Amino acid sequence: MKNRYIKIINTTFITIILIILYLSSLYNYLLFHTIAEIFSVCIAFTIFVLTWNSNSYLKNNYLILIGISYFFIGVIDLFHTMSYKGMQIFKGYDYYANQLWIAARYFESAMLLISFIYIKSKKKVNIYITFTICTIFTTLIMLSIFVWKIFPVCFVEGIGLTPFKKYSEYIICIILMTAIVVLTKNKDTFEGKVYRFIFLSMVCTIISEFAFTIYIDNYGLSNLVGHYFKIFSFYLIYKSIIVKGIQEPYEVIFREMKITEQKLFEHNCILKDQATVDGLTGLFNHRHLYECLEEEAKICSSIDSTFVVMLLDIDHFKNINDTWGHIIGDKILKELSQVLKENVRSNDIVGRYGGEEFLIKLTETNLNKAFEFAEKIRQAIELKEFTEGIHLTVSIGIEIYKGESISELVGKADNKLYIAKNSGRNKTVM
Ligand code: GH3
Ligand code: MG
Ligand code: MG
Repeated sequence: MKNRYIKIINTTFITIILIILYLSSLYNYLLFHTIAEIFSVCIAFTIFVLTWNSNSYLKNNYLILIGISYFFIGVIDLFHTMSYKGMQIFKGYDYYANQLWIAARYFESAMLLISFIYIKSKKKVNIYITFTICTIFTTLIMLSIFVWKIFPVCFVEGIGLTPFKKYSEYIICIILMTAIVVLTKNKDTFEGKVYRFIFLSMVCTIISEFAFTIYIDNYGLSNLVGHYFKIFSFYLIYKSIIVKGIQEPYEVIFREMKITEQKLFEHNCILKDQATVDGLTGLFNHRHLYECLEEEAKICSSIDSTFVVMLLDIDHFKNINDTWGHIIGDKILKELSQVLKENVRSNDIVGRYGGEEFLIKLTETNLNKAFEFAEKIRQAIELKEFTEGIHLTVSIGIEIYKGESISELVGKADNKLYIAKNSGRNKTVM
């Protein structure tokens, strides 16, 4: 949803810019040209800044090479804008702009081709060396145009475009098409979205170049179209740098954070379980039993209700351990826990009080009903055949909550259990 809004805002922004550009061309073509070029120069510089700062995230060389070269393309284009016919900044010759344009496009197409050739190279390009080489090239281009004046003439007043300029545009188109071929051959190196952006950008660059090969004067319609497509092509390169250098690294970070968060949550659950559950039987442990009893006492005090505590102890369990060993003793404790779990209602609580003693909290009941329940459990255990065919009995003491402290209440149940033990075991005392 958020992404859709961003897309709508982006599209609206671009559309507004294009409309403003068109309107400005109706008013004054020089104004249009200046805005269009400055806009693409801004994108070029943004591409460079993004590339330079997200260099460590950009795993592929092509984006680094493209990103850095766009700074220099932007610089040459800026000079092109300032020297455009009618700007009157650089005196002496009216058509530096055409030479600078051709120089920038040669530079751009060559860098695109080189970066796609480098696409599969594992060795990461050094941004400082790339920057230095590009600086040397750009300086040579500038000197050959402005100082040495050896750069071929591109436009002659009254005659129009020179053959050099025309053929150059074709050569540039051929370089770009070769770059597209290299790009499509390496399609599998890209993840979907970025390939689309770069491919479309190249197509826009080629359309833009074609538009410039057919223009007759510096203020014509094809010149306008050419500039529109140049802006599109720059913008698409910018989008691919945004995806690779910012969006995807962030997504990776967020994905890793989510996984860590999930692991932490699971770990917390395990810790929580370990803090409340008895390791051997899987029943609640002594500490958690007390917490539940305290909680229940609070609730019952506030709504004038009560609950019953039932303490259950295995008779002569020491003998079983002595006869069968502790491993079998443990197994019996587990099996007995299962019997208890199966017999309590969902809102009752059963836990291991300690050793071979168990505590059950019965809610919404009275002593007589609790007694009946205790007897049912006692008989079920008496009838059950445990592991190794062992039979055993339990003694039970039950007490109802009357507002005393939990330790007092459990103490009373323990007294009843003691009575059951002393009066022959295998019985319930209330
Ligand atoms: P009584 O009928 O008087 O309760 O006799 P008893 O032998 O059950 O009672 P006593 O308190 O003398 O012995 C309890 C035994 O329970 C001793 C101990 O070895 C055994 N026991 C306690 N915890 C465990 C356990 O986790 N595993 C096993 N295997 N035995 C345990
Ligand atoms: Mg016992
Ligand atoms: Mg005991």
